Amino acid sequence: MNFSSKLLENAVSEFGRLPGVGQKTALRLVLHLLKQSDAEVARFTSTINQLKEEIQYCHICFNISDYHECEICTSPKRDHSIICVVEDTRDVMAIENTNSYQGIYHVLGGLISPMDGVGPSDLKIDGLVDRMRKQDVKEVILALSATMEGDTTIFYLYRKLKEFNIQVTTIARGIAFGGELEYVDELTLGRSIATRTLYERPTL
Ligand SMILES: [Zn+2]
Repeated sequence: MNFSSKLLENAVSEFGRLPGVGQKTALRLVLHLLKQSDAEVARFTSTINQLKEEIQYCHICFNISDYHECEICTSPKRDHSIICVVEDTRDVMAIENTNSYQGIYHVLGGLISPMDGVGPSDLKIDGLVDRMRKQDVKEVILALSATMEGDTTIFYLYRKLKEFNIQVTTIARGIAFGGELEYVDELTLGRSIATRTLYERPTL
């Protein structure tokens, strides 16, 4: 792309670094912003700055939150004896949208993926084990995507959790074809949580 301005080129290059945004879309977004008033652009940039500066991660479940402890972890209406383990905050949002889960969460922040150099220590796994020691947990639901990374992580977590006297369950793994939780429709996801089954160790 040939740009008439270095400032324009820089802005397009920044937008183009966002996931799913190609050069053409980046240019369209930047030209759109240029047409906005100064106040509108200032609000846009200050929202992003504020997000980055002030966002917190719940120190109990590691979900994105405005507070040190998220609203789910502090809610007396939730069943604190059931913890649903998910990959990231999008999965929490997807499961919350089903309106069919009353337990609490634990956000791993990714999945074990040796190919991408992500090992167990890069994830919030120690935090989960800590919660097993401190909280009265009866069940851990492993709601991870039906991918190789999801399977690897589930097996690893199962081995970590088996020393505790809890039920380890998984949601129906056929819910998506190698897809991720956030893309599953709410009804199917809700049903797969309701019909979760005890995790069975694969025979190797
Ligand atoms: Zn929390």
